[in-house]
Amino acid sequence: MKANWDNIDAQITMQKESLANFFVHYLKFFGGKDRYSASELDVYNALAYTIRDHIIEKWLATKVLYNKSHSKRIYYLSMEYLLGRLFSNNIINLGADKEFREGLKKLGVDWEDYTPWERESALGNGGLGRLAACFLDSMATLNLPAIGYGLRYEYGIFRQDICQGYQVEEPDEWLKFDNIWEMKRIEHTVPVHFGGEVETYHIDGVEKFNWCPSYTVLGIPYDMPVVGYGNNIVNTLRLWSAKVSEEFDLQDFNQGNYIDAVSEKVEGETLTKVLYPDDRTESGRELRFRQQYFFVCCSIQDIMRKFLKESSDFRDFPKKAVIQLNDTHPSISIAELMRILVDEKHLPWDVAWDITRKSFGYTNHTILPEALEKWPVEFFQRHLPRHLQIIYKLNQHFLQEVSVQNPGDNDILRRMSLVEEYPQKKIRMAHLAIIGSTSVNGVSEIHSEILKEQVMPDFYNSFPHKFNNKTNGITPRRWLLQANPSLAKLITEKIGKEWITDLSQLKKLEKYADDKDFRKRFDKIKLENKKKLAKLIEIETGVVVEDDAIFDVQIKRIHEYKRQLMNILHVIHLYCELRDHKNFKDAPQRVFLFAGKAAPGYYMAKMIIKLILNVAKVINNDELIKDKIKVVFIPNYKVSLAETIIPATDISEQISTAGKEASGTGNMKFALNGALTIGTLDGANIEIMNEVGKENIFTFGLDIDEIKAKREGNYEPYQLYSENPNIKKVIDLIQSNFFSLHEPGIFEPICNSLLTQDQYFVFADFNAYMECHEKILQEYKNQKQWTKKAILNVARMGKFSSDRTINEYAADIWKVSPVKPKKGK
Ligand SMILES: *Cc1c(COP(=O)(O)O)cnc(C)c1O
Repeated sequence: MKANWDNIDAQITMQKESLANFFVHYLKFFGGKDRYSASELDVYNALAYTIRDHIIEKWLATKVLYNKSHSKRIYYLSMEYLLGRLFSNNIINLGADKEFREGLKKLGVDWEDYTPWERESALGNGGLGRLAACFLDSMATLNLPAIGYGLRYEYGIFRQDICQGYQVEEPDEWLKFDNIWEMKRIEHTVPVHFGGEVETYHIDGVEKFNWCPSYTVLGIPYDMPVVGYGNNIVNTLRLWSAKVSEEFDLQDFNQGNYIDAVSEKVEGETLTKVLYPDDRTESGRELRFRQQYFFVCCSIQDIMRKFLKESSDFRDFPKKAVIQLNDTHPSISIAELMRILVDEKHLPWDVAWDITRKSFGYTNHTILPEALEKWPVEFFQRHLPRHLQIIYKLNQHFLQEVSVQNPGDNDILRRMSLVEEYPQKKIRMAHLAIIGSTSVNGVSEIHSEILKEQVMPDFYNSFPHKFNNKTNGITPRRWLLQANPSLAKLITEKIGKEWITDLSQLKKLEKYADDKDFRKRFDKIKLENKKKLAKLIEIETGVVVEDDAIFDVQIKRIHEYKRQLMNILHVIHLYCELRDHKNFKDAPQRVFLFAGKAAPGYYMAKMIIKLILNVAKVINNDELIKDKIKVVFIPNYKVSLAETIIPATDISEQISTAGKEASGTGNMKFALNGALTIGTLDGANIEIMNEVGKENIFTFGLDIDEIKAKREGNYEPYQLYSENPNIKKVIDLIQSNFFSLHEPGIFEPICNSLLTQDQYFVFADFNAYMECHEKILQEYKNQKQWTKKAILNVARMGKFSSDRTINEYAADIWKVSPVKPKKGK
């Protein structure tokens, strides 16, 4: 019998009238539930399946559209995606919000009540993973034919619990229940080889190499739809899951190696078991190295398969594909593509290298030296012997060119080599990424400059044309439309809804900064958001805060360079002031809110959390200060928490040591929601200042050059401590165990580190920070002026849409245009 595809393909478009039927269908016939047995989770599942049907129709149509267009494809390779919840986001991006609400009304089901039942997908650490998620949203919204590749970790970033003031890590079981947003694509399973040896053979006198690996793991793809906003486009995020190859098992079983076979199976599946929870410090673990190759190998095979459907001439590859590397994590793909082209497709080396170099773009995310990836040569020898040969040969050719350009300069060869010799032989992945790419970009203007001038000056001199900047952005769909629906509604009422896909339209709000009625509504929205946050704070921490307090917020990964420590020291200073002077009668309550995870092995970061929590306990319970200050640490920072906190914030803390934060994106989310920034001249803070105007942001502290000078001079934090009574008082109070009565001495390592090194210049910036806060408090008293500034912040944040960022990548690096359906179809 022949299927009638015309009828099968006919779209079951979502109609308000049929929504209820679909929902009931899923609840009963998929979930097997009725009124007696259905839980709220069952209702959520049925709702999600209902909306997923609608997504799949568009998903299939998008694939047809892209295939017909024969357009060049964008392949975005990222080891991390911090997606957050997808249910609301999908409904909003589909534009199905109202239909969904009205369609289910007769059942008495309001979809928004069920959103907390979704287990959020948190396959990333922080900014880098969230950026990848914002980029997916923008690429889909801009009709760009892009596929995101990543790993389907069984456990994402750990759940953070607090136990007696200490961070405790718990596994994140996000797949415990069905993940409705993924579809297993078993037919596109690929093999990934490891280990073994390289054989040499000759064809027509040409030396050839054949990698004979020792074991194989399978990569199974799971696809997640990425819904564009209001354009009927649904792109794909393909996540790879590792599984041990059955054939291999069988062989071993037959040979009677039952135990070996089983442990190998466990080994293979361990590859995608868990996300590495280190943010910016490479722990150099062998499993992580194998994870990276697994990811790269699966993705490149998939890209090749797609390419071969379009062409069999590999010289066309750069015209059909561009691969963007989100940091060096997937940079082994440069050696992998070379291996495929040279060993498997038998292309001459130079041709293969030309194709490879034209096909990659590399985004650098950090200049912290401890975060620049270097892999021990012995890892390559053990797991990727052929890749090591390829990297050595690339290095040999490359250093030859360098020496021709710099005759007699041996030091430059040592500096630029892909191989670091001392103290241990290692491959410098950033160097590989630079020589293997057409484009190398930083993520904010200042970071791109530092990259060129201080981190990679030799490479910049050799390849000035490769270096460029793409200032990060955030998607306005999640970070305004979804997170702050009341503000979004007010904005749309005034300037129409074009801002959702063209954020520069927010400029039109500037005139409302002088409109009394608008300001009143703006303030009311902030207050409502604060009420929600106050409730959440009470539920999560038991601390009661006033709805109209000043909410001063620092939420981000805990790291010494981000200087949560400076923030809490300042809070202690304010507390001392209150206790000494007690002149706080008319001051509003100030809530200092923190959230963020520390890498499990990062001792200092964990102690900073402990200090915040201990200080909170003392301050929140001290009746002498009449609740004028509250300190809260909300556990388990994640995307959904950010969505609640940010719209309620008055003051956004972006206080990294100048030169350390490549861009930051948290800073953008706050300003877009009308918080005023207190920040250093670092990363994108500088560009935010340029956009919103110096008078609408609070900057303080040493700039990059001043920090550099301090670092190169002899910085003496102890002297600052002894000369500055404010610093002295705070440190002495901590050292007196005022905040650690029952655990005396626990904060000694923190104090010691500050007094003897202060690597991140907390003391050097302390006074400026304190004075800046005093200024902020003064300005906050003028509510009208404050609101004006907040509105101007919102109005002038257009630049920081990830749509702008992605348009720049598409035009300058990828050379890919949007694919739009032909008119009349
Ligand atoms: C935006 C975001 C980040 C990045 O924040 P920064 O302040 O730029 O470090 C980290 N984690 C989550 C959950 C985020 O939403």
